[in-house]
Amino acid sequence: LVRLRARLARSQNSLGKGLLTLLSREHLDEDTWEEIEETLLVADVGVVPTQELVDRLRERVRVLGTRTPAELRTLLKEELVALVGADLDRSVKTESGADTPGVVMVVGVNGVGKTTTTGKLARVLVADGRSVVLGAADTFRAAAADQLQTWGERVGARTVRGPEGGDPASIAFDAVKEGIAEGADVVLIDTAGRLHTKTGLMDELGKVKRVVEKHGPLDEVLLVLDATTGQNGLTQARVFAEVVDITGIVLTKLDGTAKGGIVVAVQRELGVPVKLIGLGEGPDDLAPFEPHAFVDALIG
Ligand code: GDP
Repeated sequence: LVRLRARLARSQNSLGKGLLTLLSREHLDEDTWEEIEETLLVADVGVVPTQELVDRLRERVRVLGTRTPAELRTLLKEELVALVGADLDRSVKTESGADTPGVVMVVGVNGVGKTTTTGKLARVLVADGRSVVLGAADTFRAAAADQLQTWGERVGARTVRGPEGGDPASIAFDAVKEGIAEGADVVLIDTAGRLHTKTGLMDELGKVKRVVEKHGPLDEVLLVLDATTGQNGLTQARVFAEVVDITGIVLTKLDGTAKGGIVVAVQRELGVPVKLIGLGEGPDDLAPFEPHAFVDALIG
């Protein structure tokens, strides 16, 4: 939590502190409520959720006759936690069957942090005593397979890769086959995210998915989004959701943005929870998304 708080320092400045300053004003007049709205919008919470939060907060302040900054802060925390969704299932499913490993497919546009996230996730799983096989199905970006293999070597997971420009689906297939042969617990598949043609992406990811499912069910399709890209990330999310059934979101680079509110916006957009967050480039910089801790870090 301390680390999360430190990493979200910038978000805290923009969202948490901003809101608290506003709420500690003597008179919560119309202007102040508007400024609160603006602060939430600037943090990328999104128009509809912002309106809902402000309406609820105003109503509660009115009903309770709340005045003190401490009380307001408690109300704000409660409303933010509710907005983020305290009771969503955010566990990453990696249930292996009797003969098959759990399979997780990692998707997203190039540069959002897919490969890094796959490596970090492997590390978490290995630290948890699970054996992991990595599938380097991002054959589009030249260095992706090397990068994944480096992660694999670092964390103790074998990487299955193919020739540069090779067929992603066949690498994914081989990775799961290898996972089965080794009796691995989990196979993580890193994919390519070229978005220039939707049909191309659809064909490719669809094929990877179908091929993987020949071995057994796919446990998770994690969509990686870069939190610093704001509304652009939402557009990407929409495109991917049309192509594959996303089961969870990983929001990366939350350490480098004041726009933590994107968590709310993207969950609404896709109707699936943010499961993991990226807080830096290092091996330990992946954390489960926990609404209370997140809001605490925002508000301080
Ligand atoms: P991919 O093309 O989606 O596989 O993206 P990469 O995994 O290669 O990541 C792109 C860049 O973003 C790299 O320089 C990563 O180190 C960096 N990166 C990934 N996740 C995070 C994060 O959570 N925080 C920060 N600050 N950088 C990140």
